[in-house]
Amino acid sequence: MPVSQVFDRALQLALQLDLFSDLVTAPRTPVREPLATQPPPQQPLPPVAPTATTPRTTEPETPPPSLRTRQLRCGDQLIAYTLTRSSRRSIGLAIRDAQLHITAPRRVTIAAVEEAIIAKQRWILNKITEQKNRPARQRETQQWNDGALLPFMGTSLQLRFVPECKRVALTDARWLDLPASAQLDEAKSRLLIEGWLRKQALQVFEQKIRAAASRLGVSISSLHLSSARTRWGSCTSKGEIRLNWRLIFLPESMIDYVVAHELAHRREMNHSPRFWAQVELIYPAYREVRKQLQQYPISSLPL
Ligand SMILES: [Zn+2]
Repeated sequence: MPVSQVFDRALQLALQLDLFSDLVTAPRTPVREPLATQPPPQQPLPPVAPTATTPRTTEPETPPPSLRTRQLRCGDQLIAYTLTRSSRRSIGLAIRDAQLHITAPRRVTIAAVEEAIIAKQRWILNKITEQKNRPARQRETQQWNDGALLPFMGTSLQLRFVPECKRVALTDARWLDLPASAQLDEAKSRLLIEGWLRKQALQVFEQKIRAAASRLGVSISSLHLSSARTRWGSCTSKGEIRLNWRLIFLPESMIDYVVAHELAHRREMNHSPRFWAQVELIYPAYREVRKQLQQYPISSLPL
């Protein structure tokens, strides 16, 4: 290959931006409470949020088993938590698997633990909701039998094996009909479903790319589906866009954000402030959605 061609190829590769690589290394679990949580009991308690009208238990501390689930009412929310005693000096809060886990020094009373929960209730409830709503480990838990639910653009489709069904079809009532012949063959079901999902993905992406490209006044040369495990999309300097077909499992806002991101690269082949200004032009709410997308590692999706 002549030197100039080698150079061109290298340049092209370099310009295939490695998108969202920060997401790959994003910590999954557990999420630790960001600020040190005080207090030892003899110190003043943190200010209690005004919405916390929680009747708190004043029961004396009994030596508990190391892990025990308790409940605390915060307004109209019931927060369940486990309490572990340790030799640490302050109360620690962590959310794992959408559950609050508290680690507290042995001499801290339950009342003080609950004060700490109330002081952090907004953070706790946000994290719990976030973890509940994301399809973490869905790849392992996804079922493929009759009646199983499959995430699709922010909703769920329900699988249904139908004797007279010849090919995969979506009904009005959000049933995903499959040929009964695939019922006892999970590999076949998965293959059929993946084929159908890819078709939907291409249709949805094409439509969104076209609309957003005209809004931004840019063109693209091609659109392809990718099945990369570490990136949601890419865009070359020649305007070749690839979007991960697994985006179709996610809420539509996230598809919109990725579409906006790739198209903005038609204006700026970098991640500079000027680039983000272009993203914002197409999708003003991108900041929040970009953060939400980090809760969906590609490897956790059902297929
Ligand atoms: Zn990018």
